[in-house]
Amino acid sequence: MEKQAFDYVIVGAGSAGCVLAEALSRDGKSTVAIIEAGGSDKRFFVQMPLGYGKTFYDKSINWNYDAEPDPGLNGQRDYWPRGKILGGSGSLNALVWIRGDHRDYDGWAAEGNAGWTWKDVLPVFKALEDNEAGADEWRGEGGPMHVTDVRRRLHPLADRFVKAGMEAGFAHNPDFNGASQEGVGVYQINTRNGWRMSAAKAFLKPALKRPNLRLYTHAQATRILLNGRRATGVEIERRGRRMALMAGREVILAAGALNSPQLLQLSGIGPAAHLKSLGIDVVVNSPAVGHHMQDHLGINYVYRASVPTLNDMLRPWWGKLRAGMEFLLAGQGPLSLSLNQGGGFVRSRRGLERPDMQLYMQAISTFTAQKGTRPLLEPDPFPGYAIGMSSCRPETRGTCLIVSADPLAAPAIHANAHGTENDVQTMLAGVKVIRRIAAQPSLASITVEELAPGADVAADEALIEDFRNRSGTVYHPCGTARMGVDIKAGAVDARLKVHGVDGLRVADASVFPFVISGNTNAPVMMVASKAASMILRDRGG
Ligand SMILES: Cc1cc2nc3c(=O)[nH]c(=O)nc-3n(C[C@H](O)[C@H](O)[C@H](O)COP(=O)(O)OP(=O)(O)OC[C@H]3O[C@@H](n4cnc5c(N)ncnc54)[C@H](O)[C@@H]3O)c2cc1C
Repeated sequence: MEKQAFDYVIVGAGSAGCVLAEALSRDGKSTVAIIEAGGSDKRFFVQMPLGYGKTFYDKSINWNYDAEPDPGLNGQRDYWPRGKILGGSGSLNALVWIRGDHRDYDGWAAEGNAGWTWKDVLPVFKALEDNEAGADEWRGEGGPMHVTDVRRRLHPLADRFVKAGMEAGFAHNPDFNGASQEGVGVYQINTRNGWRMSAAKAFLKPALKRPNLRLYTHAQATRILLNGRRATGVEIERRGRRMALMAGREVILAAGALNSPQLLQLSGIGPAAHLKSLGIDVVVNSPAVGHHMQDHLGINYVYRASVPTLNDMLRPWWGKLRAGMEFLLAGQGPLSLSLNQGGGFVRSRRGLERPDMQLYMQAISTFTAQKGTRPLLEPDPFPGYAIGMSSCRPETRGTCLIVSADPLAAPAIHANAHGTENDVQTMLAGVKVIRRIAAQPSLASITVEELAPGADVAADEALIEDFRNRSGTVYHPCGTARMGVDIKAGAVDARLKVHGVDGLRVADASVFPFVISGNTNAPVMMVASKAASMILRDRGG
């Protein structure tokens, strides 16, 4: 088998991997290899923000996973897109730039994970960013990741949504990434001049000019090479050929919350009984690998409107042409924005200590679309909008376990959606909040009817049945190789080193000890940036 040697080998060029590759190669001396199963991100519908509707099911750039039948979703299999392309899931995500609630990180540290309090991570978040709104106590300026302040570029419905939220009794929050996350407002997004700004564009692309960084695309890591309990490299399969990329210093897994635990298990690091049942030799019995999976589950309530929405702008051919021109000539208009324009973090019930639900407002509707499609560029033939919610910190835990020793076989994803009574009650309270907001004058005055689930779905049991039928992942899986003080509590320690193995770390969404209250892309980049600093510090660099 052909061998190449490097100091560091990173698996996965997604949101985390790209940040790691840039930081570890920055000295110009350390040799770094980054391996990506997918290929180039030079695709129009990847780089155009609203193209996200087109990439959602595109097999050429997406792992297209189906979760296992889930009792919490009335036995349905939920569809889990994951990026298989430079930039990873961050190349096909909805671009909402959110850090999470300060208390999330204090909660990580309170579990014994030293160095992960909000005070510890805030400077890392700030250093990542080049926030268009300018630097302040919370925001960063001058970093590689451009964050766009879209306040003045949104559809008028976003403003109506915020007003309706205030009429419903929630405070207006001008900056979800500021002093507090609570309230209703509009999302910041990671774009630049109207185009997607993924970690691949912000971090990897400029770093690839360095001769000490080598990118392998269309290369799938099939196992971690181990010498006893020390990681020495990674085996990859590329265009039908096997190769070994040896790591003199460290191997870092950044293959995402589904594929990092998969690789650990394929390499004999995971729950011993499960590995043995598949005929895999156990190197380290690490019970947390593939367990503790958390995610956010969302549902949309869809409304027919009496005023023009993005449906009217994007459905007719002349509307598409106009939007296309506006985007290509000026980097403006709906194609340059996220699907999610308005949003919020609110308390679904009185007496809660902090917000427990996240809101999304989309000035577009796809009610008439067939299941299994996401026709954002072919919306409903009438004006419509949607308000969505997900619970911020569901209690339920899922698993992501391999089902065979074949590295090319998909792992089994069990989400255990709405798995506890508290989760069900939070969702129930949450969907009632959606209706409360939609009933306020600013929205009620332009709403014709609720299309989904429809006004006749009113009793608690019917609302629960509806979200069991219609809710699904909002694509934030994490925790499948979580941080923990010991091998019982987690797969990695607070320095992200795999418990029981030398020379191996995980640095992506898998290591979150708990899901954060919000979208996960920025937190993943923060984790990767902090991981790189720890790797360099441990080396004495
Ligand atoms: C449809 C969608 C919408 C989303 N919307 C938002 C949003 O609006 N805001 C937000 O903050 N977050 C959003 N997210 C979530 C966010 O994008 C992810 O949390 C984040 O990208 C995860 O980063 P990661 O580095 O952990 O994994 P990824 O970015 O998924 O990267 C993993 C990479 O590893 C590669 N890989 C996997 N296995 C192997 C292997 N064996 N060998 C080689 N390479 C491998 C993959 O191909 C991929 O490129 C969304 C996600 C999706 C899917």
